[in-house]
Amino acid sequence: PDPDPHAYLARLNPEQRCAVEHGGVGEPAGPLLVIAGAGSGKTNVLAHRVAHLVAEGADPGSILLLTFSRRAAEEMSRRAERIVRQVAVGRPHLAGAKLAWAGTFHSVGARLLRDYAPRIGLNPAFTIHDREDSADLLNLARHELALADTAKRFPRKHTCLAIYSAVVNTLAPLGEVLQKRYPWCLDWEDDLKRLFRAYVEAKQAQHVLDYDDLLLYWAQMAAEPALAQEIGAHFSHVLVDEYQDTNALQASIVRALKPDGRGVTVVGDDAQSIYAFRGATVKNILDFPAQFTPPARIVTLERNYRSTQPILAAANGVIARAAEGYGKSLWSERESAERPQLVSVRDETDQAAFVVEDVLARREAGIALKQQAVLFRASQHSATLEIELTRRNIPFVKFGGLKFLDAAHVKDALAVLRWIENPRDRVAGFRVLQLMPGVGPKTAAQVLDLLAGVQDVAMALREVRVPPAAAQAWQDFLALVDALYNRELPWPTEFEAIETWYAPHLERLHGDAEVRQGDIVQLAQIARTYPSRQRFLTELTLDPPDATSDEAGVPLRDEDYLILSTIHSAKGQEWSAVTLLNAVDGCIPSDLATGSPQEIEEERRLLYVAMTRAKDHLQIVVPQRFYITQQQGYGDRHVYAGRTRFIPPGMAELFETRVWPEAAAQPAASPPPTEFVELLSKMKAMWK
Ligand code: ATP
Ligand code: MG
Repeated sequence: PDPDPHAYLARLNPEQRCAVEHGGVGEPAGPLLVIAGAGSGKTNVLAHRVAHLVAEGADPGSILLLTFSRRAAEEMSRRAERIVRQVAVGRPHLAGAKLAWAGTFHSVGARLLRDYAPRIGLNPAFTIHDREDSADLLNLARHELALADTAKRFPRKHTCLAIYSAVVNTLAPLGEVLQKRYPWCLDWEDDLKRLFRAYVEAKQAQHVLDYDDLLLYWAQMAAEPALAQEIGAHFSHVLVDEYQDTNALQASIVRALKPDGRGVTVVGDDAQSIYAFRGATVKNILDFPAQFTPPARIVTLERNYRSTQPILAAANGVIARAAEGYGKSLWSERESAERPQLVSVRDETDQAAFVVEDVLARREAGIALKQQAVLFRASQHSATLEIELTRRNIPFVKFGGLKFLDAAHVKDALAVLRWIENPRDRVAGFRVLQLMPGVGPKTAAQVLDLLAGVQDVAMALREVRVPPAAAQAWQDFLALVDALYNRELPWPTEFEAIETWYAPHLERLHGDAEVRQGDIVQLAQIARTYPSRQRFLTELTLDPPDATSDEAGVPLRDEDYLILSTIHSAKGQEWSAVTLLNAVDGCIPSDLATGSPQEIEEERRLLYVAMTRAKDHLQIVVPQRFYITQQQGYGDRHVYAGRTRFIPPGMAELFETRVWPEAAAQPAASPPPTEFVELLSKMKAMWK
């Protein structure tokens, strides 16, 4: 018997099915919004909708799928392609269907820009700066304008970049951004304007783009009627996941791609909006339907398929106490006698020991490490745990923040590659030149000025005079440049040439050259997995691989490993067991975020996101002795943090409370009184 080609639809509930089939066959249907709570199947609906469109005849090459991370894009493409293969019986053209356009806004933007660069006066050989490089370039401009010297009060490079980025992403005037978010920088408005102008000019002259430019230029292309039509026509459908975390610029891109909303599907959850601090606005999702005439169709989903009922009840308890109402009633059919746990431990050391013990116990019980995740508010919160895991030889992968790529030696090697790719990239050139013995910032700047306008860089470099100390190194460098610049070597071999060239510098510059050499070897290994120099550089910059306990920084394949992740990087994902670290006031809400009620509410949503990642087991750990630093009139005050305010005593019955280690249950090591802690810190301060 023929398998039912629509079997995949039968797995969906009626509302989900309605969203998947919206519009039927033929002409792309009008805009669709799926707004629904965590774990209700939004992402699943998106994957099914993509598969359904392909099965019904849409060209997979014309479907644009925008997700929050590369991991999410890969995962969703895999899901959709698997469904398509199931319906491909008797329709061989479907068997190998591949989604060509799935990725983040930034990576899709980068691809489109390479194709269309000349049409908007952009050099297609541009290189992309990560946030650190962007801050460095801003800093160069800051020094050139002598803004770095005027007292020390001028905002630092990272603040400047944050302000710049906020302006670009919210499409709001500088004055307004300063007023709202950086009031202490208001005095500098004119200087900041000058600085940003210089920064923009530098980027243009050097053919470099920062992250924001990828969106900005894309939006600009979209504003050009002829181009907009062409790009818009390339995509029959545009689908966006996690729409609640898009910013104004991203919304304008979607709108420009499909002005009438035909073929547009966006899904999201306003209760999970956690990127306002970076310019995202929940307005995008709330205002979406009314943007179009006729307005978008809205589908809501209320059944949660992910979590057990007790986990959902606790998460709902947190979000129900929010200042704004999210008006959702999620329910789950997954009964369980196990309530989520509130685990009290003495301090961070005990917390790490507890997590390890519990994770191992669950593995014994048949839950693989990969099915377990440990989440935290800020990347540094996992430090103690990482040490403990390493000591106990438990492999882990850490999402969100790969330190390996930030290491100086890794940046050096990448800078060489980037400079070859784009000789005008001043930040890269600056870095490379200063590797030569005897070359400092001044000489480097002179050399770069010399190269600024020239056509043949390899040639011009021969004319450069370097200090005698650098003579030999310079000759070696010229040989490398010749080989790479003329593309004499095929791609991954290029990287090996850099490795060989860099080795003596590494030896000279770093005491621990051997360890660092290992990193470079690993980088070469990663390089080999990319088809070209440009793709390697672009993707490494936009979406670096995750860090692992393996020093290498290369994801361990086929092995079982524990997941460590910031809450931000965990969004959209799910695990059988989830443990949240440091559930204390000061961590969540973060003491950096307690400025305004809006910020605090965003922290509440973060906790909600964390809790709703758990399918079967949820643990929230509260260390009793966790110092936080409070700013007070004159100087800092160290105090013990209490349990997060988002789980007030009134919610206790939703949890099972537990003290660890259990033996300590008798007289729980109570923290010394606050006054005493303060006294201690005062005594220390006396001797500073
Ligand atoms: P989040 O808001 O966290 O991103 P989501 O709404 O995108 O969540 P999904 O990740 O798509 O939710 O789905 C959550 C879980 O529920 C997944 O494991 C998914 O496979 C499962 N699921 C979704 N719909 C159904 C269904 N109709 N039948 C069975 N399982 C389902
Ligand atoms: Mg999702």
